[in-house]
Formats: sequence, structure tokens, C-alpha cells
Amino acid sequence: MTIKPTPMPFAGGQLDYAEDRRTIGDIRKFLDNKKSRAVLFQNGKPAMDENGALHMVHPSDLKGTNVAQPAPVLLGIRGDQPVFAFALHESQKIVPAEAFQEMRFIAGRMKPDELAIAGRARSLFEWHHQHQFCSSCGAKSTAASAGMYSHCNSCQTDHFPRVNPVVIMLILREDECLLGRSPGWPEGAYSALAGFVSPGESMEEACVRETKEEVGIDVTNVNYVFSQPWPFPSQLMMGLICHTDQDKITLNQDELEAAKWFSKETVQAVFNKQSEAFLRPPRFTIAHHLLRYWLSQ
Ligand SMILES: [Zn+2]
Repeated sequence: MTIKPTPMPFAGGQLDYAEDRRTIGDIRKFLDNKKSRAVLFQNGKPAMDENGALHMVHPSDLKGTNVAQPAPVLLGIRGDQPVFAFALHESQKIVPAEAFQEMRFIAGRMKPDELAIAGRARSLFEWHHQHQFCSSCGAKSTAASAGMYSHCNSCQTDHFPRVNPVVIMLILREDECLLGRSPGWPEGAYSALAGFVSPGESMEEACVRETKEEVGIDVTNVNYVFSQPWPFPSQLMMGLICHTDQDKITLNQDELEAAKWFSKETVQAVFNKQSEAFLRPPRFTIAHHLLRYWLSQ
């Protein structure tokens, strides 16, 4: 199977992370640059304008605004434009509260480069929020390099934002694929099975183990297709296709509410909007693109 380079939602951002231009002097210059822009967040939600685009301001517009730490966070340079992100306290007055929108609800309508910027910002803010204290000695840590990592002044340890690897797999049997649904999903929604990679495990092994645990099926021929950064809060979704000759599903009800085999014909009809056999995964998810990839084979 060939690896198809797909511009996956949340990936494909145009930012140069400028890791060699992050001294205090560099950041001050970027903040003063007339072309600089800043995206604004509150409780993990980006501020959006009335046209569905990210609401961006110049960093100097935030003077006197109650911003949360870490600040400033330099996401990177887009062309010649430094792009910052700021998290705002609820007491801020610069943007109406309703401008901050839940990304899962708007991701499908956002422009690809803005989705990549917002996803990167969301993951970084969440990591800093969850890692305010040094995991080596317990002292308060401080953000370094304009938000790229954090540093403990007590034991001098640097801590870098972590990304958690997750396998997400399309399980194929002849011309059918297995999809499952978790409790609380919208009615009729089905998607590819997924699970976290455990320490000491390859992604192929994680795929085999998770499939066995969730639906009691043995899979082989695990192949990597493509991956996606997923900012809820910070996963790397590794899209796989695997195969089985077993059809009997033994559902693990602690993990899934239902799982079913769907024929390629049915999945194609759902994607063509000619069938409502199930609600397909949203376009901004890797599961959607894995299914499209399979349909294109
Ligand atoms: Zn420490």
C-alpha cells in the first residue's frame, strides 16, 4: 500500500516555528512588528469573528488586558507575519464572551491554515495549564522560549510539551469495514476504533491489542496510512488499515456501545448522501479520511 500525503485537518499549517529566534530581544521585536497578529483563547476556545474566521488582533491591542500565563506564546512565523496566541481571563473586555467558540463545533467550517493555527495554540495552552509544576521536583515552573517549553528554576529541568500517540484503525474483512460507536455520540454516529499506544508497544501492536480488547477480533497486516494532530488535548492520531477473516464481534461494553460491519457499498452511499445507514465521522476527523481512502482503493 502506498502512503498517500493528504492535507489532514489540523495539519498543514504554514508556520515556521522559529526555534532559533526566540530570545527575549527576538520576541520583543516580533511583538512590535506591525504585521504581527495574535489569536485569542479562553478556556480552550478560540475567539472567532462574525465571518467564521479567527478573530486576530495586534499584540499591542492587548495592553491593559488581563492575559493568562503563559504569555506571550509565539506560535510561529507565517510568511513575514509573526503569529502569537494569548489566553484571556474571563474578566477581559476586548472580545465579547460569545466570540469564544468550542472548536469541535466549528472545526468543519474553519479554513485549513486557521484550523492548524488554532489547534497548535489549543494544545500548547492545555499543556501549559496541566504542567504548571515541575514533574521532577514539584516547584512552580515557568514558560520558556515564548511558550515552546517550560523550565524549572528550582532543579533546572526543561519540560517539553508532549504529544500522545493514538492508533485509529479501519478493520477490513473482504469488502466490509468494522465501525463502532461510543456512548454519548450523536444518534447513528459510527467511526473507526481507536486507542492510546501503551509504553513498550509499537503502533502495529497497539492496533492488534485494541481491536482484540474492544471487539474481540484478531487482526493482521497492519498498514500505516497517514496521521493527524488532534488538539483535544494533544494526540497524534496514527491512521491504520488492518485485516481479519473473523466476523464475530464480541463487544467490550466498557469501551463501546455498539460495533457493526458495513459494506463498502453502504459506506459509499453514506458518503454520497444517498443513505442514512449511519452518521459518518465529521470531515475534520482522520476517521473520515481513512474511510474516504478505503473507498478510493
Ligand atoms: Zn524542578
